[in-house]
Amino acid sequence: MPETGRAGQPVKMSWSARSKLPELGTTIFTVISRRAESLGAINLGQGFPDYDIDPLLAQLVERAMRGGHNQYAPMEGLPALRERIAAKLAALYGLSADPGSEITITQGATEAIYSGIQAVVGPGDEVIGFDPAYDAYEPAVRLAGARCIRLPLAPPAFGYDWDRVRAALSPRTRLILINSPHNPSCTVATSADLDALAQLIRGRQITVLADEVYEHMVFDGRRHASVLQHSELRARSLAVFSFGKTLHATGLRVGYAVAPAELTGELRKVHQFNTFSIAHPLQWAIAEYLAARPATGADLAAFFAAKGDRLRAALAGGPLRLPRAQGTFFQLLDFSALGPPGDTAFAERLLTEAGVASIPLSPFYAEPPPLSLVRLCIAKRDATLDAAAARLREFLEREGRAGA
Ligand code: GLN
Repeated sequence: MPETGRAGQPVKMSWSARSKLPELGTTIFTVISRRAESLGAINLGQGFPDYDIDPLLAQLVERAMRGGHNQYAPMEGLPALRERIAAKLAALYGLSADPGSEITITQGATEAIYSGIQAVVGPGDEVIGFDPAYDAYEPAVRLAGARCIRLPLAPPAFGYDWDRVRAALSPRTRLILINSPHNPSCTVATSADLDALAQLIRGRQITVLADEVYEHMVFDGRRHASVLQHSELRARSLAVFSFGKTLHATGLRVGYAVAPAELTGELRKVHQFNTFSIAHPLQWAIAEYLAARPATGADLAAFFAAKGDRLRAALAGGPLRLPRAQGTFFQLLDFSALGPPGDTAFAERLLTEAGVASIPLSPFYAEPPPLSLVRLCIAKRDATLDAAAARLREFLEREGRAGA
């Protein structure tokens, strides 16, 4: 029997008609991974490794569960893990962060971003972000009732235009979202960028949320410039990190946020009613792992630089250009020599005709410009990268475009 409303009229429930995110579909990373699998394509799309994790980590997870670390972890995270993180921040960035009041374990960086945004912004507030931007940022802002103002990072350098940021600031600006090393442009922010940002927001009630999940993956002698190392920004920033990236295990879904105590307090108010606390055995295992391998992360730059070099060498001399990445475990592929822009159509051709899955850049934009770039993930076995390069070369040969 149909439900009836007050006037006795049948009520047709519709959630989509009242959607809070009406134009959103499924995230591009999930869509492409599904399609890659069903088509048997080599998946260089979604960012995850295809090689084994360190067996020690697997042993420690097993030991954690057998050892009885299976009930709720403390809401803010396991003390032993937060202490290990504090030690790492001190060793790597010369930073003193109080594990008790300034470090929170979250369900991956995504939860840290989501909970951080809910904690800081609300209806009527404005958030400044930069396009291309990771697709999780703006929905979190909108679900908080705030508005995201997205400013361009113009290719090929994808640099910040701080004058535009200044012009976009308003009394409603509550938060600025930055990401370095940057997904998907593979660029890194410089300490001059952080200086410019600090100067712009000096004297204003503006928080910075810095997505630094690729912190260890910076190439050619660069050093990651963390907001945590910048004394002015440190005092007003929430920096977000990921064990999934650092331990080559994106399925862990364990990350953390570092912020001053008062901001951390606000973050935890949201976190406790969002995810409450994070998988206890995983936190225990990661803490033990960091104790056993205190230099964790230090080898990632060389590891991924070699992967990038390998893929670039395999495609050198051809019409697909692979600009040198400054950071991340991604690599852009520039297909402008093959014809007019159209990244979504080109990614589709690579997927269906070359058998290689990539991520177009358009989904990283509110209003995508004409684009001749797609993103490849290089966190793959050498054999996977070689096979993908071979498929790309065959595709180019079929196109009659093998030569330079
Ligand atoms: N961060 C990953 C990427 O950029 C995607 C994670 C996800 O699929 N949510 O590829």
